[in-house]
Formats: sequence, structure tokens, C-alpha cells
Amino acid sequence: MKTLNIQESGLISPLDIYEFGSGSPRVTFTAGIHGGEVTGIYVAERLIEYFTRNPPCKGSVKILPRCNPTATRCLQRRSPFDGEDLNRIFPGSAQGSLSHRIADAVWRETADADYLIDLHCCGQHGLPYLLGIYDESDKARALAGQIAMPIAVQSGGTAGQLFTDSCRRRGQAAIIIELPSGPSSGAINPGVAEQALDGLLSFLSRIGVAAGHEKDLQPAFYGPLLDICVPESGLWTPQACRGETLKAGQVVGTLDGKPVYAPEDGFIMTVLPIGYIFIDDPWVVTYVVKRP
Ligand SMILES: [Zn+2]
Repeated sequence: MKTLNIQESGLISPLDIYEFGSGSPRVTFTAGIHGGEVTGIYVAERLIEYFTRNPPCKGSVKILPRCNPTATRCLQRRSPFDGEDLNRIFPGSAQGSLSHRIADAVWRETADADYLIDLHCCGQHGLPYLLGIYDESDKARALAGQIAMPIAVQSGGTAGQLFTDSCRRRGQAAIIIELPSGPSSGAINPGVAEQALDGLLSFLSRIGVAAGHEKDLQPAFYGPLLDICVPESGLWTPQACRGETLKAGQVVGTLDGKPVYAPEDGFIMTVLPIGYIFIDDPWVVTYVVKRP
């Protein structure tokens, strides 16, 4: 393991880098770009444990488990130093504020990756999924297609993210894996972490980097995440569950006793639990629609 100390105006952010094996294929994992997303960090650390015991059969694996360690200490998405969202400022700058310098270092450390997988978390109430710009990048689609997890979602493609900019500027195969968190801030979701590890070890076995973990599971590809919103504040009571198929016109829950309907056929990704909803809350249910 080596540590790069990234510095600006007396502030220091250590970037730990673990490397196993050498040569191609080169697989790189990043985690903790959003500090509070600890299930992703846990998966990265489990991969470090795995490759410490089982060096790559061929090629190399690089793991950056805690890209934004002070944000992780504070269990928050953004840097407590400069308020930046690290996953909006790639490729970063060696002359900018601390977050820009971290982005620059992560960008350089991931430059040679044939496969780049960035581990994130998507809140407590959702399902895990592979997120990529599949409509722009055949390489990203091919990468997601080899990971043994059931759901691949099209990204909105916001620029400045490690995976979007790696696909567009460097022609790499890069995606995010979104993993639900545990039931409170800083809580790991161990079941989801095991699922992701199995899916990743299956991919690593398929490309010859690991051995003996291949699973017969491939993701189905869906369009972007869509929201079902409510028109006013009130008591939201869900009737639908995540992982269910959605039918147009189906009642997904009620707001103050009045039914809330599904606008189209789809697959439910996230359902808010019973609670008071406010007019500015973005959604009560999110869903996706299958793509050919
Ligand atoms: Zn994130």
C-alpha cells in the first residue's frame, strides 16, 4: 500500500492506494468519493482482503478505498474543507482547492484502468444497481453486462463525475455501483455488500483476474431512474414495495388517504416508508423502465 498526501494551504488528505499483481487487464476500484457512502468503502476493503489472500491470477487490481477520508470521518457527501462534491469536479486540478487536488490525484491514479468501478451508496430504501452511460459507451455497457448483479440503470450523464468523464474523455470502461446503506448514517448494509462482492468476483473470474467465482447472472438494462411525486404535503402510506413490477394505473400508496397512481409500466427501485411528506420532497417512489 502506498499513500499520497494531497495538500493545500496546510490541509492534508491522505489517499491510500492498494495494488495487486501487474499488467493487463487492469481493474481499478474507487470508493468513498462521497464520504458518507460507507457500504461502498466496506466492499472496497473486502476486495483488499480478498486480493491480499488471493493475488490476481492474471493482470492487476488497484483499489482506492477512501478517496475523501475527511468527508468519511464526518459521514457526509461533500468535503468539510471546501464544500465541494468530489464527484462533480473531475478531472480536478493540481492548483485548485483541496477537493480539486484530490480529484486530480484520483484522475491520474485511474488513468491506466481498462475497467474502472466506482463504489457508491444510494440511501436506505432502494435496490442495488449498476449505473452507466450505456447509450454513449459500448465499453461501459459491456463492463456492466459482465457483473453478476440484476439491475443496470442508465445514468443521466452529469459531467464532472469520475465514471462519466473517464468514459468520455479517456474512452475507458467505467461505471458506478450504487449500494443501499444500512438503517442509519454510517451504517453498512452487509447483505447488499455480499451481493456486490459476489457480482464483482464473478466479473473478475470471467476476465481471468480471479478464479472460481463465476455466477450465471447478468443484469437487465433499464432507462434512467424516474420519480413518482405527490402534488401536496401530507401523510404518505406506501402500498408498493421495491423490487415489484409496476403496472400503469396501479395504486403505489396513498397521500392523506387519496390514492397515488403509477404513471406507466416499470420496475420499482425505491419506496419511501410511511411518514409525513412535504411538497418539496422529490419523490415517494422511484422506478425504471426496461430497455431492449
Ligand atoms: Zn455517491
